[in-house]
Amino acid sequence: MRKNIVAGNWKMNNDIQQSYHLLEEISSKKPKTDTEIIVAPSFVNLSLAVEKLKGKSIKVAAQNAHQNESGAFTGEVSIPMLKSAGVETVILGHSERRAYFGETNSLLAEKVNTALKYDFTVIYCFGEDLSERKAEKHFDVVENQIKEALFHLKTENWKNIVLAYEPVWAIGTGETATPEQAQEIHAFVRQTIASQYGSTVANQVSILYGGSVKPDNAKEIFANPDVDGGLIGGASLKADDFLKIVDSF
Ligand code: PEP
Repeated sequence: MRKNIVAGNWKMNNDIQQSYHLLEEISSKKPKTDTEIIVAPSFVNLSLAVEKLKGKSIKVAAQNAHQNESGAFTGEVSIPMLKSAGVETVILGHSERRAYFGETNSLLAEKVNTALKYDFTVIYCFGEDLSERKAEKHFDVVENQIKEALFHLKTENWKNIVLAYEPVWAIGTGETATPEQAQEIHAFVRQTIASQYGSTVANQVSILYGGSVKPDNAKEIFANPDVDGGLIGGASLKADDFLKIVDSF
């Protein structure tokens, strides 16, 4: 059966000291759970996280990576570098990367390929913005984001893919998709995967919801049959809030 996952995306927050303390608190207060826990600190704090979380059953993810394996790309970080730091999971396609750094579905397809070449798990993010939702284009937008970045993959690649539906209008806004809206898209995404790869693949892929998930709304969102956890921004910066969300299944 597919895994329940709660991943914390720290974004560009937490210096080394703050990261140290947050990692310390998360690992010491972590509840006994079957839910997979992932934290995604900034690049400079990844090695610290790998070191501090050794043996704690909490995975460490990068928030991005370059599509090339090495080369003259000043300021960028490659998948092999992450691998050598002990990281094996990467978030790709976050809406902030798409909006502020011009990441397109075709670029993301390249990034996904490089990550899979090194046997990474990819948390692939997608979701419509407010104007697309208002124009009722959200199903088309989501379908394209998935097809254009992932539908060239082989069936066996899907064991390394986690999907994260993050409606842009719900990220960092305090506005959450209703449990019904989340379930509707998640079921649609699973159906889209099934139509290309069959129901075995579709039923095994974990689909996370992201967008203002908090301790007081996580339970009703995670209760939906096609919601397999959350990608958490703001609430992942406080250990107690993050762990309450982890405990919300
Ligand atoms: C995110 O950026 O992935 C996210 C879901 O943020 P927040 O939880 O703060 O809305």
